Amino acid sequence: MLSSGKWVDEFDEKFARYIGVKDGCSTSSGTTALHLALAATGISPGDKVLTTAMTFIATANSILYCGGIPVFADIDPVTFNISPYSVKQVLEQDPEIKYLLVVHLFGLSCDMAPLMKICKEHGVTLIEDCAQAHGALYHGRKVGTFGKAAIFSFYPTKNMTTGEGGMIISDDPEIIRHVKILRDHGMDDDGQFVTLGYNFRLTNIEAAIGICQLERLDEFNRARRKNAAYYNEYLGDLPFLELPVEPEGYKHVYHQYTVRLKVPRPPFLEYLRANNIGYKIYYPLPVHKQVLYRNLGYGDCHYPEAENAAEEVVSIPVHPAISERDRERIVECIRQYRPGGLV
Ligand SMILES: *Cc1c(COP(=O)(O)O)cnc(C)c1O
Repeated sequence: MLSSGKWVDEFDEKFARYIGVKDGCSTSSGTTALHLALAATGISPGDKVLTTAMTFIATANSILYCGGIPVFADIDPVTFNISPYSVKQVLEQDPEIKYLLVVHLFGLSCDMAPLMKICKEHGVTLIEDCAQAHGALYHGRKVGTFGKAAIFSFYPTKNMTTGEGGMIISDDPEIIRHVKILRDHGMDDDGQFVTLGYNFRLTNIEAAIGICQLERLDEFNRARRKNAAYYNEYLGDLPFLELPVEPEGYKHVYHQYTVRLKVPRPPFLEYLRANNIGYKIYYPLPVHKQVLYRNLGYGDCHYPEAENAAEEVVSIPVHPAISERDRERIVECIRQYRPGGLV
């Protein structure tokens, strides 16, 4: 079986069990998982959905796919995650918002206690984008267990991969039943086409890869955390860098190791390039500043912390395949950087 098959069902089950929820439904990508998760939680044309201004574009686009209206909140400048304070302010100003889509960015959980309290107070449904945080913990609890539904991505850069792929998980059997219908052309168990669905299936081949990757996820995360611990130890004293934080009670799984530059960024990037050290900016623009969103009327919105972060961050290699020698060379090289105009 090359397309649907037994490995798909096994992967769905095993992944849900790993996170600690009842059931899962794999899809062709994290983006299609988001699309279906939002549709199944009831987001329909005109619904406002609050999310973070600092994320991958697919988070906000999935709201648009459902005909929803993205509303943004600013971030916490230390963790880069959505700020509970900003969420509270936005919800108080706009009681029409009934959904919150949080993103556990770079592998670190959002501050879930205040976020869940705010959701409860405002009657808001929580959905989690865990595309970057497979296995991350918040006070002993895995991300993906807090919301009505949660999604993961298995894109190659993520903490585990199937090439392309995604997963919706939920404790609510109705949500899982609904997304399983939507991922397969709107077909129910009796073979009837009951709604406008899609072909968003994961293949049996990809699912087989997923099962093996899942068995190694903890090992991959350990390697990421070891790399991060090395950077924390040997880059922590540099006055021109702010390192990522792992607050008390959190387990960071370092999808990215993202530092903030306290000196101008372009010469530092030039220096990394010249020394053949891979890096990437996540994200060079907050979502509301992207052309699509400017054209949709978000051009005058301001989220100062997200905008500052976009100009100051850089992510350095933290993936499990870097060697000890790579790590040492990266640290030595960064330690030798001499920024001009140090503030
Ligand atoms: C990767 C990612 C997605 C999309 O996943 P794909 O599998 O690439 O479609 C969505 N949200 C976030 C935060 C991501 O990092």
